[in-house]
Amino acid sequence: VETEFEELYEANQFAKEFFIRNLMKTTEGKKAIEYLYKRGINDATIRNFELGYSPEQWDALVQYAIKQNFSLESLEKAGVVARREDGAYYDRFRGRVIFPIFSITGRTIAFGGRRLKDDENIPKYINSPETKVYTKGKVLYGLYQGKEAIRRKGYAILVEGYMDCISLFQAGIENVVASGGTALTEEQVRLISNYTNTIYFLYDADSAGAKAMMRGIDLMLAQGLDVYIVKLPEGEDPDSFIKKNPISEFNKLIENAVNFVEFKALTYQQLGKFDDPNVKVKAIRSLVESISKIPDELKRNVFIREISSKYKIPERLLVNEVESIILRAR
Ligand code: ATP
Ligand code: MN
Ligand code: MN
Ligand code: MN
Repeated sequence: VETEFEELYEANQFAKEFFIRNLMKTTEGKKAIEYLYKRGINDATIRNFELGYSPEQWDALVQYAIKQNFSLESLEKAGVVARREDGAYYDRFRGRVIFPIFSITGRTIAFGGRRLKDDENIPKYINSPETKVYTKGKVLYGLYQGKEAIRRKGYAILVEGYMDCISLFQAGIENVVASGGTALTEEQVRLISNYTNTIYFLYDADSAGAKAMMRGIDLMLAQGLDVYIVKLPEGEDPDSFIKKNPISEFNKLIENAVNFVEFKALTYQQLGKFDDPNVKVKAIRSLVESISKIPDELKRNVFIREISSKYKIPERLLVNEVESIILRAR
């Protein structure tokens, strides 16, 4: 089994070196460098995150592997090349900026790739498929680079995308990790909780981001984490924000982060008229649901108090609701 893992690590390493060389040393790669520069990414960041480029040619990596006598079968197992029906190998990543994904120990286990052209007909991002060394829901992008800062600062900032992660890191906000677009998983939350108990949730300020945070909150609460939600101006993501604003503005966003009670209350408020009793009931139910996930009874009661005074609902009623949800879940 161990040699099988080793085979995949080596294949990913081989592919990564190919992608880096293509970014740095080829004419075609200059387009990708220009693209990254245009987006404000500098050389130190390119090196630190080992960014690369996959040529547009459909079999550039395949041809390179043949020349270097590297096993195509291994590259296929690692998911960086695939096979057509007629048996011919081809590259999975073509014409993309490459973001290597690292394990916690720094081994390359997969890749994300962003298209260079703004062609709506191809997906903006693609990823390696799941392999023996890569399970999407068990990895956080940037954790390898960010884990020291997360420990040092005592909290992690959780963003959606690769670009969000590396842009913040470049701006000196190094305690950042990205979930990578997929819905946040229990395993990812557990992974962060090895480094800190406090998460600042900083997803895109669009409806997808808000929905994803609503779902993610309960996962974090269930694992005993303290979660704060950071509010970006509408339409921005962390990458776009940090490019338009000085770091002091970013720090203000962090300082003004709200807890989940405030966040959910605000979200429901925006759904309906402030005084609509039906909306109020929905908000309270959703809050009570979240609170029932918190393992620590003292913490539950502190938040119950907050809801009680916010919505003028007797505490005893809320406690009963929470307890009946907990009993039902057992
Ligand atoms: P960029 O700034 O380069 O446009 P982004 O990170 O802002 O990228 P979003 O559309 O906000 O892009 O998506 C957030 C994340 O979701 C991406 O970083 C990527 O991990 C994932 N993602 C986006 N589009 C796709 C897609 N078509 N297929 C798979 N994953 C995607
Ligand atoms: Mn988005
Ligand atoms: Mn985004
Ligand atoms: Mn973006």
